[in-house]
Amino acid sequence: MIKNNYGSKFIGAHVSAAGGVDQAPLRAREIGANAFALFTKNQRQWVAKPLEEKTISAFKANCKMLGFTAEQILPHDSYLINLGAPEEEKLEKSRAAFIDEMERCHQLGLTLLNFHPGSHLKKISEKECLAKIAESISLAHQAVPEVIAVIENTAGQGTNLGWRFEHLAEIIEQVEDKSRVGVCIDTCHTFAAGYDLSSFDACEATFAEFDQIVGMRYLKAMHINDSKIALGGKVDRHHSLGQGEIGWHCFEYIAKDARFDGIPLILETIDPDIWSQEISRLREFHHQAASKKAQ
Ligand SMILES: [Zn+2]
Ligand SMILES: [Zn+2]
Repeated sequence: MIKNNYGSKFIGAHVSAAGGVDQAPLRAREIGANAFALFTKNQRQWVAKPLEEKTISAFKANCKMLGFTAEQILPHDSYLINLGAPEEEKLEKSRAAFIDEMERCHQLGLTLLNFHPGSHLKKISEKECLAKIAESISLAHQAVPEVIAVIENTAGQGTNLGWRFEHLAEIIEQVEDKSRVGVCIDTCHTFAAGYDLSSFDACEATFAEFDQIVGMRYLKAMHINDSKIALGGKVDRHHSLGQGEIGWHCFEYIAKDARFDGIPLILETIDPDIWSQEISRLREFHHQAASKKAQ
């Protein structure tokens, strides 16, 4: 057993699953991560062949060997899926693909599934689109047990919904089983959507607003990214930590604040070569806060 000993802060990155999903935990370990995200199928294709039994057992064995539990792993669904699609045919296709994604997670022993809520494509109202998304989530719940649908907030690009905290709240409101719905806050998307995160005070205010509108209890994961785009720019362009418009204060804030313990904090930053450095720096901030608390 070579279990990691990194404590209560689950920090990692979205690693490649090339060669099979069972390779992902090994890649996470290489960069010193105690959390990771992955695609369980090609994210740009509708259909994938089912996971093979030997891949499933190898994935589980690698996770066990390296000390990754389900709460440290954040699978991401395909980019093609639109759970709020205005047209019936596309909606049906999306819902079937989402159920398949959820089923794959369940087969792998995973309990979270991260997805982008959906787009109205200017064909239906925001309200109708949010209702379709909520219904899609409830349908997936009925089809697959245990897995929590984790809605990611968006940058507000194009007709994508989920960039306002109110959108997330409105979806959750309409989902029948609230124990199986949660939120993944992406710092880049949050900032691009117009919520400031560039100082400790700004982070305090933004997360207070999130808590008030959505509720911190629904926060099941985070994507930790800096942004190439200025505050409120409504475009999704990630950057390495500290090199974008957000800056290190935000990431120090998250690393030090115990409200973000126990959930996967996933880098989707643009330079995988420095992921291990970004992870170490976040972990250093966490240790500073932890040792201060112990004094
Ligand atoms: Zn993200
Ligand atoms: Zn993004």
